[in-house]
Amino acid sequence: MHNVSATTRVLLLLAVAAAPLACDAQQRPGQGRQPTIPPPTILEYKPQSTLIVPEHEVPRARFPVVDLHGHPPTLNNRQTIEEVVAAMDALNIGVMVQARPSSGDRLRSQIEAVREAGYEDRFVFFASVDLSEVGPGAGERIAAQLREDVAAGAVGIGEISKAFGLYYQKTDGSRLQLDDPELDIVWETAAELGIPVFVHTADPPEFFEPLDFTNERWLEMALFERRRFNDPAQFPHFEVLMEERDRMIARNPGTTWVLAHMGWHTADLARLGEIFDAHPNVYAEVGAVLYDLGRQPRFASQFFDRYQDRILFGKDSFQPDEYPYYWRVFETADEYFDYYRDYHAFWKLYGMDLPEDVLRAVYFENALRIIPDMPAGPFEGVR
Ligand SMILES: [Zn+2]
Repeated sequence: MHNVSATTRVLLLLAVAAAPLACDAQQRPGQGRQPTIPPPTILEYKPQSTLIVPEHEVPRARFPVVDLHGHPPTLNNRQTIEEVVAAMDALNIGVMVQARPSSGDRLRSQIEAVREAGYEDRFVFFASVDLSEVGPGAGERIAAQLREDVAAGAVGIGEISKAFGLYYQKTDGSRLQLDDPELDIVWETAAELGIPVFVHTADPPEFFEPLDFTNERWLEMALFERRRFNDPAQFPHFEVLMEERDRMIARNPGTTWVLAHMGWHTADLARLGEIFDAHPNVYAEVGAVLYDLGRQPRFASQFFDRYQDRILFGKDSFQPDEYPYYWRVFETADEYFDYYRDYHAFWKLYGMDLPEDVLRAVYFENALRIIPDMPAGPFEGVR
């Protein structure tokens, strides 16, 4: 009874005959066999690698880093600031961009607290923009608030969250599209002020696809209900959001755009390359997509080499023990090592072994070039 039945075998052979071009079209020994003991669930199966290869842990980045996608806690008191600085020192993060939404008083109180604590050379602040109630005249109001925030010390816009595109509604009840003309004045104001716009659009493309057993993010989507954007009655498709984003960028060529999470194109880097080629004002940040870079170390390394002036380091969630995985992927040629989050990726990572000039560009040089008034102190001696 453990063997494939005769009927199933005939059906399999028929299926094989009907699909002569499939690479696994030939009947293989043991194909279709079922386990003779109960199989583990996807959560239970944790194979331990038996591979023994050279390992190089990298607790500190080789050069001081700008974390463009920083989400430390609100930096409004000395104790929090000192805890974050201690973590940054251990990891060799020179400057962290506070990308947690803040504007007005919430922004000013953090800038003041950092200055009072004596760490104004370790943090810079992006300002959030309120896109929750866009209607006629909203663009002017948002742009005016942005001018105030930049006067108070903000050096960028961001992080604009995925709610822009997925959730925000206009005052007329329709979905706020990324390329809504009402917002052009906001992006033009950013261009005039010389500050970058850091925007997170959509989420991994798999989240917009059917939740079947071929989906690479099945486990994550099963664990987190709010990461399922695959109901067309509720959400625009990934490609719709990308088209809106690309039109927003094309309409604002004077604005510096930084795409969070490499625009969610890390499973198709050539596509991101086309965006870079078409729009010299576009940059991308590597937060939370290490699982994709580390499974294509050779192609990703070529991509980083070619577009080294367009890629910026960012981490996203502030978990100090996770940063060294990035250093290890970028700086070593290690093979087949674990990633830190098993529901992002059930595969192993490989090092990209990036050359030093690429590391410098990605770690700090690009950020120093596109963000105004960046503190120079942490990068003295390595520039
Ligand atoms: Zn973020």
